[in-house]
Amino acid sequence: MTPLDPVEKLDAMVREQIIARGIKDPRVIEAMKWVPRDRFFPQAIESHAFDDAAAPIGYGQTISQPYIVALMTEALEVQADHRVLEIGTGSGYQTAILSKLTKEVFTIERHKPLLDQAFETLSRLGIRNVRFCFGDGSVGWPAHAPYDRIIITAGTPQVDDRIFAQLAEGGICVAPVGPLDEQSLIQFTKQENRILRKQICGVKFVPLIGEGGWPT
Ligand code: SAM
Repeated sequence: MTPLDPVEKLDAMVREQIIARGIKDPRVIEAMKWVPRDRFFPQAIESHAFDDAAAPIGYGQTISQPYIVALMTEALEVQADHRVLEIGTGSGYQTAILSKLTKEVFTIERHKPLLDQAFETLSRLGIRNVRFCFGDGSVGWPAHAPYDRIIITAGTPQVDDRIFAQLAEGGICVAPVGPLDEQSLIQFTKQENRILRKQICGVKFVPLIGEGGWPT
């Protein structure tokens, strides 16, 4: 049998790991099909790009499992006119998915080499609607607030109030919240200046390190 090419593997990944597990939003499914996941993997482990798992990207960090990326993106309910803040750029894979769904994405990362690599990968893919920042995103990125959507892609003991302050009225924030060894994926909605929370499922993320997260 001829081995599958990357396009067929990506198609199978979306069918078997995303749609079969209940992701329904057609825009999210389309974005997952559009972003070539293998381009975000270090060359040495590129053959694992379509595995049903997170994978190491250096500096003790990971690219998240495809299903979790889809689940968080669906929970974010991104519309085409939204301004979205992503805290924890990592490989830039989630950033690329978000860039397909909306007009403007802001992403912040505390490891400069990861940020630079993500910038390069997205540039090569012709993605131009993302602004990158090197710094501590655990307290958000106030310069461009308010955001319609905020996604935190690292585990945090709590979502800092300064992040909620940067969320627009009616906005949604999705984050893994809880202790270091396991977290709950939570969808927060800001309504009339109150924060409503809905638990999605249990997850395990690398820690959000910084002033509003875990100490270094
Ligand atoms: N969504 C990413 C992807 O698709 O590759 C995976 C993100 S990885 C699970 C979490 C990222 O959050 C890591 O790259 C880590 O360095 C970053 N991070 C942790 N604490 C941070 C902070 N305070 N500010 C910004 N980024 C942070």
